[in-house]
Amino acid sequence: MSRIIVAGGGHGGIAAASLLAKQGHDVTVFERHAENAMGYDWTDIFAPGAFAEIEMPLPAKELYETKENMTFYGPGYHTALRQDIPEEKLEIKMERRDIYAHIIGCAKENGVKFVFETAVLGPVTLGNRVVGIKTEKGAEYADLVIDACGIDSPVKNGLPAACGVVPGVGKNNQFYVYRAFYNRASDEEVQDKYKVCLFAEGKLGIGWVATEEKYTDLLIGRFEPFDLDEANRTAEYYRSLNPSLGDKLVRGGQFVKIPVRQPLSKLVCDGYAAIGDCAYMTVPVIGSGIANSFKAARMLADTVREDKACAFSAETLWNYQRRYYKALGNSFAVLACVKEALTVLTPAELDYLIDNGVITANDMSIDADTTSLMGILQGNSPADYKKKLVGAVKDKVLLAKLLRVGKKAAGVMAVLSRMPRGYSSQNVTRWVDAYEKAITKSL
Ligand SMILES: Cc1cc2nc3c(=O)[nH]c(=O)nc-3n(C[C@H](O)[C@H](O)[C@H](O)COP(=O)(O)OP(=O)(O)OC[C@H]3O[C@@H](n4cnc5c(N)ncnc54)[C@H](O)[C@@H]3O)c2cc1C
Repeated sequence: MSRIIVAGGGHGGIAAASLLAKQGHDVTVFERHAENAMGYDWTDIFAPGAFAEIEMPLPAKELYETKENMTFYGPGYHTALRQDIPEEKLEIKMERRDIYAHIIGCAKENGVKFVFETAVLGPVTLGNRVVGIKTEKGAEYADLVIDACGIDSPVKNGLPAACGVVPGVGKNNQFYVYRAFYNRASDEEVQDKYKVCLFAEGKLGIGWVATEEKYTDLLIGRFEPFDLDEANRTAEYYRSLNPSLGDKLVRGGQFVKIPVRQPLSKLVCDGYAAIGDCAYMTVPVIGSGIANSFKAARMLADTVREDKACAFSAETLWNYQRRYYKALGNSFAVLACVKEALTVLTPAELDYLIDNGVITANDMSIDADTTSLMGILQGNSPADYKKKLVGAVKDKVLLAKLLRVGKKAAGVMAVLSRMPRGYSSQNVTRWVDAYEKAITKSL
């Protein structure tokens, strides 16, 4: 039995803690918030099958409902792209606080210890090995530290450079989000209950207005930070298009950040593994990360179980990285190229692609599981992608931009296919360098 610390009570961290405690390890989660203040005051959407991955039962039926299909609009609001996800594949919507209560309850039953209201300040290292964490109440030591401290984790950011975990989120790689629930201003039947707008008002980012029975859920996401005045001004713009969106704040009203980028290039080092938003496990275009962090927890727990000597070295943990990239990370790295394409298109170009059927409703049927947007980029092959675009896009400047996206994605896929099978410091460092170079190459 080993001592395992989980830094931060992220979804993936708690899920991994639960699976590892079941394996017989002594697992403690250190979380800065109080237990009754975990999560945000809003709902989340995710695939319910993810609970089976982490050996937890589905929450009580009355705690969740099936999510509506989404309708996407371009900046000009001309053409509606309506998702048509089959009933059985629809995700569920659940209060974030209820998700936390459920997974914390299950983890405790499996023997996980929680230390709430304790901020983690950074890693404790011995040479290049992580041997514990610094908290505001003193140092804690462990055989393995799992970092689930979110996008700005002080553990990840405090690792010595020689660990090879590349710091910094990077430009246009995170959404600054304002999310709030307002009253419903009108009882009129709404045709598209869940509207998502790309580049609303020509500003880089996405926004949604989801009309629920008793309230309206507004999300404004941008690649640059913005303040409450700007959020209120943008909310007025959405009100002009959505009569259901009232002006009385009912819940939420917070600013938060979501990573929308390729996964961390190196998830592990000696004594350390990153999970969840800390490792950028969200779907790059839409920011969903709960189900993916549950799946990653399963992969990490399986990797730990195979490490019979409990060495928890970069070498023995490397299989976690291999598993994650094979199942999800490779697709997300390509989707990161699609997301980057959005940052180089003008609003008029994006409208052109939507209005002329280059981007279709089927392409927008993305969820945390089915990354359908990949189809735009990959088709059946890079040649199909080129053929589709050359036939459909008459504007030469736009066509050149899109072909560059395809070329970059093909380069990233080629590097990903060369991820070392076994771990050697030299080979992995070389591969990480190549991956970082391919993915950060400007379009
Ligand atoms: C507005 C918004 C809407 C979203 N909607 C969805 C959705 O509908 N579906 C979906 O799948 N995903 C959604 N996501 C993404 C999802 O929240 C994350 O991908 C998922 O929670 C995994 O992230 P995490 O748990 O690793 O990180 P986080 O949620 O950031 O959790 C990190 C945890 O670590 C704690 N922590 C941080 N720093 C410290 C510290 N120094 N010391 C101690 N504790 C610390 C935090 O308090 C927190 O509990 C949304 C995110 C946002 C912001």
